[in-house]
Amino acid sequence: MSYPKAYLWMAMLTAFAGVTHAAEEFSVLQLRDNVFAAMRNDPPGFAVESNAGFVECADHVVVIDAQSNDATTAKVLAEIRRRTHKPVRYLINTHWHDDHIVGNRMYRDAFPEAKLIAHAAAVDYLPGKGKKNRDQFHRAIPGVLDSFRKALQAGKNSTGKPLSEEQRRSLASDIRLGEGYATVPDDFVALLPDIAVEENYSIRDQGCAIDVLALGNAHTTGDLVVHLPEQRVVFVGDIVGWPVPLVGPDQSRVREWSGTLTRIRGLKAALIVPGHGPVMRDNAHVDRIINLMSTIVRRVDEARVGGTDTLEKVRGEIDLRDLRREFASGSEVNGALFDGYVSGPAITNVWNIR
Ligand SMILES: [Zn+2]
Repeated sequence: MSYPKAYLWMAMLTAFAGVTHAAEEFSVLQLRDNVFAAMRNDPPGFAVESNAGFVECADHVVVIDAQSNDATTAKVLAEIRRRTHKPVRYLINTHWHDDHIVGNRMYRDAFPEAKLIAHAAAVDYLPGKGKKNRDQFHRAIPGVLDSFRKALQAGKNSTGKPLSEEQRRSLASDIRLGEGYATVPDDFVALLPDIAVEENYSIRDQGCAIDVLALGNAHTTGDLVVHLPEQRVVFVGDIVGWPVPLVGPDQSRVREWSGTLTRIRGLKAALIVPGHGPVMRDNAHVDRIINLMSTIVRRVDEARVGGTDTLEKVRGEIDLRDLRREFASGSEVNGALFDGYVSGPAITNVWNIR
């Protein structure tokens, strides 16, 4: 399946042991005594929804990331409430994209005292470029959904080739998630952070030590990492994406990505919870992304030194097939995701942002 409008989904860029409960869309994993993760069950696809985390402290709860719409966030909130009657006192956004922030208001409405923690850069981004990106994305959704529904109905991709079962599942998931995005009202206004983090912010409470860390740019210029040093768990948002990292041509910082991941590695967490994808118990995927980003930077810079003088030429010249094979690992869907979310945008990003 080729996804001719994959980049439209990107305008908003803007899936166990210890399963305690499996909702249809996500599974709640108990990572530690008081640390839980709501992990999405969607198959890999162009449309994504955010994992979430929640930590039960002595007299309150700390939540990590909301979701792309109220209905989905309400289901996560219901899972929190099934486990504790303590109020949510802090809600942390790992970054400003809609699949992590639209549901913030659900928490604010349920817990008016809750403090929203986000990167300081979100204060300018959300009402500015973030709003423009959301408006543009919302205008595009009906057309994208329409083309995806037609392809699924026909059972064929744009070249007339029949969809594989994997592609069918992925497309069905994209449609489901896209329908969720479409429920966000046009007049949606993002909440601004009560606590804007420049470098770090620590929450210390009986039973809870949580450090919110700005370790550097990667997926965006407003990425935060939520580290639980005593429990050796780190929530890394979209600095780690699975099966492929989500790269934005303008918003990401591919040149800085490996360095930021190396600092995350330095935390020596035993469990890494990505914004999208499964809980990771080792650094294998992190190391793959470190190698991916630094290899792309090296190849683009070599091309420039070698005399390549336009983005168009560099995109034609650079061969990422070795890395594509590694990330696709035999999956057509993952290969298409690599093309849509890595090859084009990462080369563009490295070329344009020096
Ligand atoms: Zn995300």
